[in-house]
Amino acid sequence: MGEIYDYSLTANHWSNRHGKKVSFGKIPLEENEIVPPDALTETDPSREDFEGYTVNAGMTLERWYHRAAIILWPRSRQFQVWCDAGTDAAIAGLSQMVAKFKKTKKGREERLVECRQFAATIIETWRSGQTDYYWDSSEPDPMKLSPMDRESIWMALAELGEPRLIGRVIEEVMVKDQSLSLSTTFLRWMSKQGWSDFIPSLISMFTQTKKETLGRNVVIFRTIATMRNQSGEHKMLCNQLAAMIIEAIEQMDSPQHGSRNALKLDRKEVIIDMVRACDAFGDSKLLRRFLTWQMDHPCYELIATNVPAAIELVTILKEQAKKNRPFRNWIKAILQELRSRTRTAPVKPKNWKRHSKITNCKCADCQRLSTFLADPTQPEARFPMAKLRRQHLHGIIDRNQCDCTHETLRVGSPQVLVCKKTTGSYERACKVYDQDLKHLAAIQKIEASLG
Ligand SMILES: [Zn+2]
Repeated sequence: MGEIYDYSLTANHWSNRHGKKVSFGKIPLEENEIVPPDALTETDPSREDFEGYTVNAGMTLERWYHRAAIILWPRSRQFQVWCDAGTDAAIAGLSQMVAKFKKTKKGREERLVECRQFAATIIETWRSGQTDYYWDSSEPDPMKLSPMDRESIWMALAELGEPRLIGRVIEEVMVKDQSLSLSTTFLRWMSKQGWSDFIPSLISMFTQTKKETLGRNVVIFRTIATMRNQSGEHKMLCNQLAAMIIEAIEQMDSPQHGSRNALKLDRKEVIIDMVRACDAFGDSKLLRRFLTWQMDHPCYELIATNVPAAIELVTILKEQAKKNRPFRNWIKAILQELRSRTRTAPVKPKNWKRHSKITNCKCADCQRLSTFLADPTQPEARFPMAKLRRQHLHGIIDRNQCDCTHETLRVGSPQVLVCKKTTGSYERACKVYDQDLKHLAAIQKIEASLG
């Protein structure tokens, strides 16, 4: 195979004409946009880096030539240039325009119209943050497309005093771009403005919750619900969002959604967020429904999810926890489960009889293995057999976690598989039991503290 030369030309690390850094991100350039045409080949670059043939990159050699350049574009084509360069550049451009607008005294109306038109274009041409993501290892401080930069669109729109455009970003962009969120600062600003302008868009966005946006929406819901805002509007919004988000959680974790595209969700965090949110605006009915539902759901495991969530929540809710009936009932339910798990300690086997059920195979060798395991008098067995059959039994013993070793005695023909019984399951059970006892003590302490 011959060598392939591939090359691209981009501009990055921008400063404006006052020398201030601007985050336009990486903007692709065409060769015919360079003046004079031989500037790239005739002069030495300002800096040169390369990455050699590494194991990870395969047989490629990459070189970067860094050059300083002044980039000009006609003012009349400004929006087009920014939008072509990508959503990040456009948002950075909008923020600049808005900052300028704030300082202007003359022709404000005109500027405002321009800003609004540009914001609308950004919404219409929005490209999702996740798919555009890339970074260039030649750059010590890669200007990656971070969602934090994109969130500057919120404050730019807030400065323009344009709730309709904010609503459009929520409804049109957030439903398809899970990397864009509503920061606590911006939600506080919305709350100060009054929720009424934003309720329809928020509801529309929450109604369209998908697997990809569920985790983000849970966090937004919790942030809104835990705000100090006692208005009727706020309560109404929280009630509606709570019902929608609980329905979405139940639906996405239902068997119809299958396990193929399993929901990537930190369920411990979901419990914490939902309890905090419902506690804050006092909805015990929905909270009871959620907590009862998740206790029965296999994805919300007792030990990995419920117990750590309960421990964290007690320190977050403090005195408030005592007044929260669904929370207290949930602690009782966890306690009950832990009590039933720890009712009897694991018993050490008194003879050589071991668990002998072997799943997924009924062949003669597996039956012999099973008979050996069930025998209370036999500590060891020897199976002379060819390699393939020995390998089959190795796999079966490991997969079923049978209480025996498997070693090959490399003498004679066929060689001999030697299995010696162990107390493996008993030891594993003891470990689990000790953990359960620790969890039981922790949850008992919590229950006692709730009075
Ligand atoms: Zn078998």
